[in-house]
Amino acid sequence: MSVTVRFAPSPTGRLHVGNARLAVINWLFAKKQGGRFVLRIDDTDRERSRHDHEVAIGEDLVWLGLVWDSKVNQSDRFDRYALAAERLKADGRLYPCYETPEELEYKRKRQLARGAPPVYDRAALSLTDAERQAFEAEGRQPHWRFKLDDSDVRWDDLVRGPCHYHVSHLSDPVLIRGDQSPLYTLPSVVDDVELGITHVIRGEDHVTNTAAQIQIFQALGAAVPQFAHLSLLTDASGQGLSKRLGSLSLGELRAGGIEGIALDSLLAKLGTSDAIQPRQSLAVLLDEFDISKFSRATPRFDPQDLEHLNARLLHEMAFADAEPRLKAIGLVCDEAFWHAVRANLKQIADARDWWHICRETVSPVIEDQAFATQAAQLLPPEPWTAETWKDWTRAVQQATERKGRELFHPLRLALTGRENGPELKTLLPLIGRARAAARLCGNAA
Ligand code: GLU
Repeated sequence: MSVTVRFAPSPTGRLHVGNARLAVINWLFAKKQGGRFVLRIDDTDRERSRHDHEVAIGEDLVWLGLVWDSKVNQSDRFDRYALAAERLKADGRLYPCYETPEELEYKRKRQLARGAPPVYDRAALSLTDAERQAFEAEGRQPHWRFKLDDSDVRWDDLVRGPCHYHVSHLSDPVLIRGDQSPLYTLPSVVDDVELGITHVIRGEDHVTNTAAQIQIFQALGAAVPQFAHLSLLTDASGQGLSKRLGSLSLGELRAGGIEGIALDSLLAKLGTSDAIQPRQSLAVLLDEFDISKFSRATPRFDPQDLEHLNARLLHEMAFADAEPRLKAIGLVCDEAFWHAVRANLKQIADARDWWHICRETVSPVIEDQAFATQAAQLLPPEPWTAETWKDWTRAVQQATERKGRELFHPLRLALTGRENGPELKTLLPLIGRARAAARLCGNAA
C-alpha cells in the first residue's frame, strides 16, 4: 500500500508552530516516498469547531506550501462512526455506562484516597438488564466505553523506537458521549482505517491514545498503521505551546513578515542534529528529510531564530522566487533592484522602503550644502554602471579633500535620507542622475 499520512487539526483555533511542525513533518514524510498527504479536519466537537478556523488552517497550509491530496471533515462522517460503534457493541467491546460525572468524580477521589490509581472500575459491566432499564427510566442516557483487553500494547515507533504500554494503567476510554456523539478516539481510528492511513505521525501527547487506539484497530479487524510520536515543541522559555497563544500562531508570523518557506526550513530540522539553514524550496528539504533524524529531546522554538532565518533566506533569494512575493505587496520591480537591496531586508515588505528611495521622491538630509552641491556638480553623465560610484567619489575626494566617513556619510544621507543601507555603488545607478543631482542640491526628488 502506498504511504498515506494525515494531518488532523481541530478547527477550534488557529494553528501554532507546534501544529505546523507536525504538518511539515507529515508532508515531508509522505512526499519523500511518493505518498499522499490527507488533511483531516477534526470537527466532531460542534460547539467549539468554527468554519473560519478551518478556512484559516487551509490558508496556513497553503502559506507553508503543504498542498493536501484530499481533505475530509469528520463532521461529514458521523454515520461511519455510528456503524463502527454498532460493530463494537455487537462484539461486546463497547458497553453502556450510566454514571454521572459527579459519581465518577466521587469514585476517583475514593480511589486516590486509598492510594489506588484512578482507573474506571468497570462497574457498568456488571449491571443487570433491569438496572440498566431503571437508569433509563430515570432519564439517564448511557455513555459508551471501549473494553480494553488487559495486555501490554506494543508498537515500533519511528521516533521513539520499540514502545509498550500496559493498558491496566488506563480507564476503558469513553468513545460515545451521553448525547450519543463520538469523542475523538473512535472517529480517528475509523478514519485512519477507511482513508488507508499507513503512518500516524503526531505529538507524544498521544502516546496513551495510541495504546487504546491500537486495540480499537484490532477490534475493528483492521491493520494497525505505523506510529511516530514527536516530542512537543516548547516556546523559548520551555513552556508548552497552546493553540490560543497569539504570537506563535501562523497567522501572526505571516503578518509579521515571515516567509512560509523560512518556517518550513526551521520546522523540518528543529529536533534533529541537522544544521538549520535557509532553504528556498520544499524540494531541498525533501532531499534532506529523514524521520529517524528526530530525537526525543524537547525542541525549543525561539521566534528570534525564525526572524534571523527569514532574513538569511531573503538575502539569498533568487529574483524568480522573490518576484511573486514582491508583486503580492504591490511592488513591480526588476532584478537589478532586488539584487541591490535583498541583503538589507529582514522581511519582504522592507523592499518597499528601498523602492521608494530608488524610484520615488525622497527628502534628502543635507549636512553641508556647499559640499553636497560641489558633489552634485561632479556627477558624471549617464549611462551609470556599478563603477560610477567609485569614479564619482574619487573625483569628489580630490576636489574636496574629504575622505572616509566624512566623504561618504553626507553623500549617503543626501542620496537616501538614511544613515545605513545597501551599498551605494549598486543604489546609485538605480536612483539615477536626475534624482541624485536634485537630492544633493537639497531638493525632494
Ligand atoms: N485532532 C487531534 C489533535 O489535534 C488529532 C490527533 C491525531 O493526530 O490523531 O490532537
